[in-house]
Amino acid sequence: MSETILITGGAGFIGSNLVHRWHRTHPDDRIVVLDKLTYAADPKQIEGLEGVELVVGDIQNLELARHLIERHGIQKVFHLAAESHVDRSITGPAAFIQTNLVGTFAMLEAARQAWAGQKDCRFLHISTDEVYGSLGESGKFHEAMAYAPNSPYSASKAGSDHLVRAYHHTYGLNTVTTNCSNNYGPRQHPEKLIPLAISRMAKGEPIPVYGDGQNVRDWLYVEDHCAALELVMEKGKAGETYCVGGDNEWKNLELIHLLCDAVDRHLGRLEGTSRKLITFVQDRAGHDQRYAIDATKIRSELGWRAEYPFGNGIQATVAWYFRKFSN
Ligand code: NAD
Repeated sequence: MSETILITGGAGFIGSNLVHRWHRTHPDDRIVVLDKLTYAADPKQIEGLEGVELVVGDIQNLELARHLIERHGIQKVFHLAAESHVDRSITGPAAFIQTNLVGTFAMLEAARQAWAGQKDCRFLHISTDEVYGSLGESGKFHEAMAYAPNSPYSASKAGSDHLVRAYHHTYGLNTVTTNCSNNYGPRQHPEKLIPLAISRMAKGEPIPVYGDGQNVRDWLYVEDHCAALELVMEKGKAGETYCVGGDNEWKNLELIHLLCDAVDRHLGRLEGTSRKLITFVQDRAGHDQRYAIDATKIRSELGWRAEYPFGNGIQATVAWYFRKFSN
């Protein structure tokens, strides 16, 4: 049966990919996107999709959120809207507290008021693995691990995760939380590592790499993340959290090398051309050393798997950004 769903932050990177996916997999549904259109949004990415309505507004506006849920009879909320860039959270943490913490509170409260105890309505909160802090050489993040956020960004997301947990425990709101590793793919804002590096390579400009480039991240293609979100919304257990990751750890410098070679191949340039642009810059304050996810729970309980091989995902991502640059 067709329905209307709500996606907050649907004009951002992961949100817009989720809008496209849901539109493809649920062609009869309507999608309401609630997005403030901050610098990170690009509404053109979801323009022209039939059945998709963009409402420009702030998730801190509880009345607006409740009104949208009630007016459209929404029973599924994907909550992605957030301030998402760690570097910006270091220079200006206030917006992170407002949007990620106060905004998530307003969304939860709007859902609680509008749904008034209906158990088949679900609030899926999209969060990050950064809430668990930083790993040493070994080990992986998993659902039972204690939270230890290190940046204002991860602390604000950790706080929002706790609010979601409390709304389930106290009010019985049907919530589920996902904590995902670093995403890459089309439609990401150019300030983030992969699109930034690709655009610098395209222009022949220096590619900044923090510190010695030895920090490790677990990369997941955004489409795989969106598939996980769809599955968790449909089959996840109320009140649970699911860690989502690609089993795909790379040191930042290794990743940049891979991207350099993919760009050189894409442009038919001599191998090694882009690598010459790598420039080491002062490390990020409090830079977490290593993130890695143990995704056993979502794999064994829900049957999710990352499907995109990294090499293919990177080549597709490079091709996507070059198409974008040429438009
Ligand atoms: P993004 O910065 O690309 O997009 C965020 C979107 O939220 C933008 O469209 C922005 O306009 C909107 N927004 C910001 N503040 C708002 C407000 N107050 N009211 C309404 N809309 C607002 O972020 P992203 O990378 O797509 O991340 C989406 C979610 O996934 C975030 O919650 C983030 O914490 C989480 N996440 C991201 C990653 C990643 O690698 N990008 C990994 C794990 C989890």
